[in-house]
Amino acid sequence: MNQLVNRAYNFNAGPSALPLPVLDKAQQELIDFRGTGMSVMELSHRSAAYEEVHNQAIALLKELLSIPEDYEVLFVQGGASLQFSMIPMNFLKSEQQAGYIMTGSWSEKAFSEAKLFGNPYHVASTKEGKYRRIPSLDELKFNSDDAYVHLTSNNTIYGTQWQKFPDTENVPLVADMSSDIFSKPFDVSKFALIYAGAQKNLGPSGVTVVIIRKDLLEKANANIPTMLKYSTFSKNNSLYNTPPTFGIYMLGEVLNWAKSIGGIEEIARRNEEKAKLIYDAIDQSNGFYLGHAEKDSRSLMNITFRLKDEELEKQFLAEAKKEGFIGVNGHRSVGGCRASTYNAVPYEACKAFSQFMVQFQQING
Ligand SMILES: *Cc1c(COP(=O)(O)O)cnc(C)c1O
Repeated sequence: MNQLVNRAYNFNAGPSALPLPVLDKAQQELIDFRGTGMSVMELSHRSAAYEEVHNQAIALLKELLSIPEDYEVLFVQGGASLQFSMIPMNFLKSEQQAGYIMTGSWSEKAFSEAKLFGNPYHVASTKEGKYRRIPSLDELKFNSDDAYVHLTSNNTIYGTQWQKFPDTENVPLVADMSSDIFSKPFDVSKFALIYAGAQKNLGPSGVTVVIIRKDLLEKANANIPTMLKYSTFSKNNSLYNTPPTFGIYMLGEVLNWAKSIGGIEEIARRNEEKAKLIYDAIDQSNGFYLGHAEKDSRSLMNITFRLKDEELEKQFLAEAKKEGFIGVNGHRSVGGCRASTYNAVPYEACKAFSQFMVQFQQING
């Protein structure tokens, strides 16, 4: 493996870091993909060589996430943002209600799209408290005849994450898992539909993973454009039109890497360890660093905090940048600081950043 390259401490919120062994392998295979004499990008999406890549990526997702038999894995384009529309377009009827659990900006965007198709309402919202927490399970009040209940499993901008998912019984539960899919084990069978843009934990941008329970496909609305119907993807193994072949190849390689290091349990163990380094720097700072999320809602993926003084915060961000920590500015809508510690961000990067935080406090505290 190429150990000599200069890799940045990449804390970008998305697109984000990819595992070095995956980049290395992609580089080796780029010009002559497995004896084909061309790159994977130049293969026909109908060729046997590509089909193997495609099917292996699906099989690995099923294996590593323990996806039950009655679910399908689809590859869609348009990002998680298109899912905000596709879900109500397929599953909400004009007179029907759908419950949205509001935990941040992405939930708000999903909710706005649903208004175009039916009657969404807020099951619960933590907006008043600046989205510092995930609602408790007994705050969730929804109707048994809702088309579905929608949640955002990890709030990339506010840095909160569900620790335990609700049981919605017969109401289909839909989740935007863009920023924490594959970060720790979870029970797929609690959900009717899961979606995630690949560019945080699974690969490059351009491919969106949808995990859908098969019975839902039959309940979908009929009069919608071909490319916006889940059944089009399902009937054609996500090969109705040209899929984002390079992105799917990379996603498969990211999953191969995850499998080689011990699968999702090992990924989760590493993520806990990495996040702890930075949360400890916050918690042991005596209020020099102020975490945004309430402790029992903290995200393992996006660690959000402020400094008590705005000038000092500017200085912190400027020095962090100078020291080579990339992407630690908070989202432009909320400011502050955010370290995104996705699966491919190495322990060493988190260690270096936590040491930088401690040193910065020693000098400026
Ligand atoms: C990044 C992100 C999105 C937006 O994804 P796109 O692929 O850019 O549309 C949606 N939801 C969550 C939770 C995200 O983190």
